[in-house]
Amino acid sequence: MEMRDMNMRALRFLIVLAFGLFAALPAEAQPNGDMTLADSRIAYDASRYIELLEDRDGSLTIDRMADPDVATRFVRNDGRVPSYGYSNSVYWVRLSLRNESEQREWLLNVHQPPMDKIDLYVAREGGGWTHKRSGDAYPFAEREVRDSDYSFYLDLAQEERKTVYLRFETEGAMILPITIETPVVHAESGRTTDLLMGGFFGIMAVMIVYNTILAFSLRSRAYFAYVFINVTAALLYSSLNGIAYQYLWPESVWWNNRSIVFFMCLAHIAALFFTRQFLKLNRQFPTIDRLFQAFILVELINMAVLFASYNAGLRMAACTLVVIDLTIVLVGVASWHRGYLPARFFLTGWGVFMIGTVLTLLADAGIIPQWGHVRYASQIGSLFEAVVLSLGLASRIQSMRIEKERAEALMKETKRQAESDYLTGLYSRRYIVGTFESLQKRPENVPMSMLLLDVDHFKRINDTYGHDTGDTVLRDIANLLRSELRSIGIVGRFGGEEFVALLPGQGLAEAERTAERLLETVRNYPFRIRDARYPCTASAGVAEWRQRERESFESCMRRADGALYEAKRAGRDRVRIARDALDEAMG
Ligand code: GH3
Ligand code: MG
Ligand code: MG
Repeated sequence: MEMRDMNMRALRFLIVLAFGLFAALPAEAQPNGDMTLADSRIAYDASRYIELLEDRDGSLTIDRMADPDVATRFVRNDGRVPSYGYSNSVYWVRLSLRNESEQREWLLNVHQPPMDKIDLYVAREGGGWTHKRSGDAYPFAEREVRDSDYSFYLDLAQEERKTVYLRFETEGAMILPITIETPVVHAESGRTTDLLMGGFFGIMAVMIVYNTILAFSLRSRAYFAYVFINVTAALLYSSLNGIAYQYLWPESVWWNNRSIVFFMCLAHIAALFFTRQFLKLNRQFPTIDRLFQAFILVELINMAVLFASYNAGLRMAACTLVVIDLTIVLVGVASWHRGYLPARFFLTGWGVFMIGTVLTLLADAGIIPQWGHVRYASQIGSLFEAVVLSLGLASRIQSMRIEKERAEALMKETKRQAESDYLTGLYSRRYIVGTFESLQKRPENVPMSMLLLDVDHFKRINDTYGHDTGDTVLRDIANLLRSELRSIGIVGRFGGEEFVALLPGQGLAEAERTAERLLETVRNYPFRIRDARYPCTASAGVAEWRQRERESFESCMRRADGALYEAKRAGRDRVRIARDALDEAMG
C-alpha cells in the first residue's frame, strides 16, 4: 500500500474516532440528594452531585452560605465537568457527602493544575468551619498533598453526612473537575499518570538531545526549529500539568501563573519557524512566508502583553491560537497539493496533534466526557507529532538530496550540449578553444599542430540532393574524423562543412602525414546517396603552434586557414602546410 493511502486512512480513522466520541456523549440522569460513598475501591466523579453558585464580584463569604437568599441561589450541575472558560467571577461549589463505607479517610481532588485559589470549608460539629486552602497562587510547599494537582483530606465516619463548600478563584480557565477517592486509589491512579508523564518527557528528552546533535552536524535550520518546538512543548506540558511548578519553580507564584501562556506563545513561534523552514515557504509561498513572519511578531507582542496584564495576554493567546494553528494546517495541505512530498509527514504530525488538542479542549470544556486519559490527548498528540516530524526531517533531507542530484545532472547535460555540436556530436568551437588554451599552458616543451579540413564542392551535394542529404554526408565525415583521430587528438566542427582538429604532441611533419591519411580515408569512403556511390573529397590546411611565441588560437587558426585556401586553389583534395615565416623567406 502506498504511504499516502496509509496516511489518509490513519487520518480518517482519527476523525471518525473524534466524532464517535461526540456521539457517545452520555445523557446522564439528574440525581438528587447526597453523594454516597460506598465502595472505597473506586474514584467518584462529583460532577453529578455538586451545586454551583456564581459570585460575580467575589464578595460572598462562607458565613453567608446559610443565608436563605444565598443558599437558594445554588444550581445543581448537569453532570458534566463544570467549565466556564475565562471568567472574572468567583465560583462556589456545595457538595453533600454521605459515607456508607468503612473507609474514614477520603481525598477531595481538583484536577486543574492552573487553578489559582481553592478554599475548602467543612462544617464543624457545634458550629464554625474547618478551612483549608490550595492553588498555584500559593507556594508549592503549602500543599496538603504534594502533587501536581490539588487534594484535600476529608474525615468521614461511617454513616456520617457532611456538607462541603469550595470556593474557586482563577485568572485561568474556570474548569472544575472534582473527584472523591481514597488515598490508595488516588496514589494508584497517580502512578498511571506518572508513567505517562515519564514516557512523554523521556521520549521528548531523547528526541531533543538526538536532534540537537543532528542540527549541529547538519547545520540545518529546520532541525534547530524542530528542537525548539520540542523544548517549548515539553515546557508547556510540564506547566499545564503542574509538574513544572512542582519541580522547576515551586516558589515562583507570579511566574507560574504566566508560564502556560508564555510557553504557548513560544511554542507557536517555534511552530511558525519550523513550518517556514520545513515547507520552504520563502520559495513555495513567499506571501505566506511574510504572513508567518508577521505571526511571529504577533506572538512576541503577545508575550509582552502577558507580562503587562495576564488577562489580556491570555485572551490574545486564545484568539491567535485558532488562527495560527489553522493557517499552519492549511499551508501543509497546500504544500502537499503542490506535490511537495515531505508535506505529508508535516500534515500527519500536525493533524494528529490538532485532533488531540481539540479532544482535550472539548473534554476540558465539558462538551465530551473526561474519558480515560482524554485530557492528555493533546500531549500524546504532540509526542506523536515529534516522532512523525523527525521522520519528516529525514525524508526532507532525502528529497533535497534527490533534488540536488537532479540539478547536477541537468548542469552536466547543459554543459555537454554547450560543448558539443548539435548535428555531428563533435566538439563545439568553444570547447576546442578552451582545450587549446589549457594545452598552451602546459610547461613541457611539446609540439602541437592544428588541422583545418573543408569538404570539397559541398554546395553541390546540397543543391543536387537537398539539405538533408548534405547533413547525412556531414555526419558520415564527422564519424570518420572522430574514429581516425581518436587516440591522436580532438576534433570539432566550426560550423558549415569545416572541421578543426587539435593534434597535441604532433609537429608539422607528423600532422601533415595525419592530414594526408585523413583525406585518403574520406576519398575512399563509400558515401552512398540514393543507393549510388557518391565520391567525396576534402582539402586540409595544417599549421604548427608557435610555442616560443605563445601564439594565440586566432593566429594559429589564421595560418591553417591560409594553408587550406592554398589547397583549394591548387585543385582541392590535398594538404597544404603553413610554413614558418623564416622557411617562406628561404623559399
Ligand atoms: P569548396 O570546395 O570551395 O569548399 O566548395 P563548397 O561548395 O564546399 O564551398 P562553400 O563554402 O561555398 O559551400 C559550403 C556550403 O555548405 C554552403 C552551405 O549551404 C553548406 N552548409 C553549411 N552548413 C551546412 C549544414 O549544416 N548542413 C548542410 N546540409 N549544408 C551546410
Ligand atoms: Mg494559576
Ligand atoms: Mg567546402
